[in-house]
Amino acid sequence: MMSSAENRLPPCIDLHIHTQYSDGDGTIPQIAEYAHKRGFSAIGFTDHTTVEGEFLNTRYDKHNFATYLLEIEKTRLKFPELTILCGIEISESFGSIPDEAESIYRACDLILVDGHSVKNPFIGAQKIRDWCEMFRIFTKNIGVAHPRYKDLTSKEWNIITRSQIFLELNNPKLNNGEIAAVRRFIAQPNAQSTLWSVGSDAHSLALVGDISIAWGIVQQYQLYKKLIVPVSHV
Ligand SMILES: [Zn+2]
Repeated sequence: MMSSAENRLPPCIDLHIHTQYSDGDGTIPQIAEYAHKRGFSAIGFTDHTTVEGEFLNTRYDKHNFATYLLEIEKTRLKFPELTILCGIEISESFGSIPDEAESIYRACDLILVDGHSVKNPFIGAQKIRDWCEMFRIFTKNIGVAHPRYKDLTSKEWNIITRSQIFLELNNPKLNNGEIAAVRRFIAQPNAQSTLWSVGSDAHSLALVGDISIAWGIVQQYQLYKKLIVPVSHV
């Protein structure tokens, strides 16, 4: 029997983490080591890129997606018991995908479309769906980073759910109003097939795995198997 205190501990999965490849503080090996030491089961690196796959606000001069992928692959070998997803968060220039960038998308396990940034304010589920469909041929894990749940209509929620686009429970964005909006939607029958992701949106090492609010929702509504990286819950 687990104690209630243990029950409250999230199995640590964090599928939204930034590194120095974009505007985060940590490096890929540092973050993986941190997660490994704390017994996380899965992490996802999701640095900001343009639709062309170029990193935004990167700290590195000569690094690009190829070095990012290589570093992630090396880190996977070092921590085999930790699932490490290679992802990106597309945060700018939502045009069509140039042919040269297709290999980048193919290498991604996870693609987040920024539905909430200043430059790309949430512009409706139809548009989000169209963007996501464009990336769909490359990965099955495609979804909206920090959707504005308060602004999502039922119709929009349905478009996203039907397209099997996941919605992220982004820990720092889940204020009381957002939590209430998520709860309203989850209570509806058509929300049963919604896919979910959880993430800290960490830009510093100390925030990696900080998903307590998001995890509260996962627990309350038993979303374990509806996460893009399903977790078995004890
Ligand atoms: Zn982010």
